[in-house]
Amino acid sequence: MRGSANFALLAMLALALCAAARGASGDAAARVTPGGSAPANPEALPPIDAGTSLLVVAPHPDDETLCCAGVIQRVLRSGGRASVVWITSGDASVLDLLIEGKPFGGAGRLRELAEKRMLEALRATSRLGVPAEGQLFLGYPDRGVSRLLTDHRATPYTSRFTDAAAVPYSAALFPAHPYTGESLERDFGAVLERVRPTLILAPSPRDTHPDHRAAGQLTIAVTARHGLLGSIRYWIVHGGEGWPSPRGLMPGVPLTAAPRSRGLTLAVFPLEPAEEDRKLQALRAYDTQLRTIAPFMLAFVRSTELFARLPGRDLP
Ligand SMILES: [Zn+2]
Repeated sequence: MRGSANFALLAMLALALCAAARGASGDAAARVTPGGSAPANPEALPPIDAGTSLLVVAPHPDDETLCCAGVIQRVLRSGGRASVVWITSGDASVLDLLIEGKPFGGAGRLRELAEKRMLEALRATSRLGVPAEGQLFLGYPDRGVSRLLTDHRATPYTSRFTDAAAVPYSAALFPAHPYTGESLERDFGAVLERVRPTLILAPSPRDTHPDHRAAGQLTIAVTARHGLLGSIRYWIVHGGEGWPSPRGLMPGVPLTAAPRSRGLTLAVFPLEPAEEDRKLQALRAYDTQLRTIAPFMLAFVRSTELFARLPGRDLP
């Protein structure tokens, strides 16, 4: 009797251990980080409430949804304000023209494509609830942001994709502003004045895409002058080593930490299922991008969004 009770106890224990192991391996699969462990020191973003004014800094149309669609929705649902500033309009996407069967036919075609991408951005962020006054395009050159911040601070840069040396889009906040670093910093400063953000979600200077790194540095430099450095949290989209992996739509599964976020303290922002659904609907607005990189984009529709408290390098 005693022996069979022990046997039953052992069997139950074994079953429990198996279940725990399954749970642990499921968790591990969902949260694998570069070091093979869960993201270091998960912690929450600052409290989100009616007093929150969120500014998402997007180097290109679609980045705001990939990185931050969950936070955007939560801020708006909490009665706060949400704005997105697009630094470029994605006008260097030669691949998109090829997919459309339009070989690179000159600057005009790429400007047309940028107009289309801006409309997609309006549609996507409207689906997230961002009002028109929070949809802010600066129209600086795709694949040219880092040049503006280095050797074209005062001398206009000419985009080799659109032939433009000044903002060519009427939908931009400041059409015809010159393509210089000084002008870009002034325009970004004007956005800070307009939005008065309490929380800024900016691209990480560790991102592998040069426009993303430069947009992160721009945010740090201008935000510091406004005394708002402590309001920034950093996200990453091009995180290195084929991240995010696996590719494709996996709703309900947490986003893993990017290899490029190695060593950073991460804030884990959990999305509710309805917020994940809405994030997918917003991404679906990006027809031009889904034709070329759908598995990559859909891999950001996960149950969490991740933000780092520090940029990953010394502040200026
Ligand atoms: Zn981008």
